Amino acid sequence: MTSSQDIVIIGGGHAAAQLCAGLAEAGQGARVHLVCEEDSMPYHRPPLSKTFLKSPDEPPQLHRPEAWYAEAGITLHLGDPASAIDRAAHTVTLRSGAVLGWERLVLATGTRARRLPALVGLSNVALLRAADEAAQLRSMLAAAQHVVVLGGGFIGLEVAATAVALGKRVTVLEAAPRLLSRAVSPELSEHVLAVHRAAGIDIRVGALIGKWHTEGQRLASIDVDGESLPVDLLMVGIGAVPETALAQAAGLECADGIVVDEYMQTSDEAVLAVGDCTRFPDRRAGQAMRLESVQNANDQARTAVATLTGAARPHDSVPWFWSDQGGLRLQMAGLVPAPGTPGEHTVRRPGANAASFSLLHYVDGVLRCVESVNAALDHMMSRKLLEAGRSPDAAVAADPAVPLKTHLA
Ligand SMILES: Cc1cc2nc3c(=O)[nH]c(=O)nc-3n(C[C@H](O)[C@H](O)[C@H](O)COP(=O)(O)OP(=O)(O)OC[C@H]3O[C@@H](n4cnc5c(N)ncnc54)[C@H](O)[C@@H]3O)c2cc1C
Repeated sequence: MTSSQDIVIIGGGHAAAQLCAGLAEAGQGARVHLVCEEDSMPYHRPPLSKTFLKSPDEPPQLHRPEAWYAEAGITLHLGDPASAIDRAAHTVTLRSGAVLGWERLVLATGTRARRLPALVGLSNVALLRAADEAAQLRSMLAAAQHVVVLGGGFIGLEVAATAVALGKRVTVLEAAPRLLSRAVSPELSEHVLAVHRAAGIDIRVGALIGKWHTEGQRLASIDVDGESLPVDLLMVGIGAVPETALAQAAGLECADGIVVDEYMQTSDEAVLAVGDCTRFPDRRAGQAMRLESVQNANDQARTAVATLTGAARPHDSVPWFWSDQGGLRLQMAGLVPAPGTPGEHTVRRPGANAASFSLLHYVDGVLRCVESVNAALDHMMSRKLLEAGRSPDAAVAADPAVPLKTHLA
């Protein structure tokens, strides 16, 4: 990379922020432009479904203050999304009409909350992806008595746990037969369900949702399993879709995500992509996948910085994720085997108290994934074990008197 190289980053979320930090640290002297759709500098999204909703005036937590970008020589284009990419001319056009030239372009466009067309425009229906949506949800929560959460995934359950802690009556509707079914084991789903029910959340799994009833611009009630459920506020947490429109229009290969190789290069190697918007080849799983997590955004940004600074190395990281839901701190390392995978075996490792344990999932004796509940040390050690490719003997791993770090020696 020469000092005259221009890098344009389209995004402004977690992956883009980490990419800026990595480029600044590498100190290669490229001119960097950060193009953000949102008005704000990059901020942390995880608190938006947790502490942010509880405090009436907590602002979004910025990754870095404005002065940092200026000092790092990064030009910010806030509230001015990219509207077109010309790969032949190596330019990006912004909504304002500004045109930026680039030698390397990075797409970090993330995901958008999945919507239900029938509910768009109703005044008491909320989505949660960006800080402005979180601020809106926070003020709607303050006024609501009965909160209905559609979707028993991570964000829906985090909001439900926050709402019940705020003294609201909360109902969660999940169409699948169990909570968090795409991301955690059936054993962990059961535990999460029991804990939330004990906290007073009315959780209905396998919910059969019928008609929506509106009064003017408000959602008044929902038919669920033949019952009419009144609604003050509906939070829709039914997953996210990768933001690929710009990449597709530019002719880049997309398949439920922008397809990248192990160096984060798209089908045009001058263009990279990082974070939630990518479909990438996972060396450990031996297949392409898309992940939505802070860890994935961080690690892919690191791989992209290496590619951009001439120190390319293939992406290789153990996925991990956390979710705080009231008194539950869930931490997952690795990818949970699909239920019924041949050779699958699960070991329960008790923790320091009844509310704390880890589930170690093996396939053919090889450790694949560890799900920890209120067991931070087990989680940290599990990540190290998975990184090192170590599989502790199942009988010993189940003994809480033997620290997991013993198996690293
Ligand atoms: C409420 C909430 C809670 C979460 N909690 C956790 C958690 O507890 N643990 C965890 O690991 N992960 C959590 N996540 C997920 C985590 O925040 C994401 O995985 C991470 O932010 C992904 O980073 P990203 O940069 O790929 O995408 P994002 O952070 O989504 O950023 C993408 C950005 O690109 C912008 N953009 C899109 N199109 C354009 C365009 N054309 N021009 C310019 N900008 C554009 C978007 O406006 C957005 O700002 C949570 C997410 C949410 C929404």
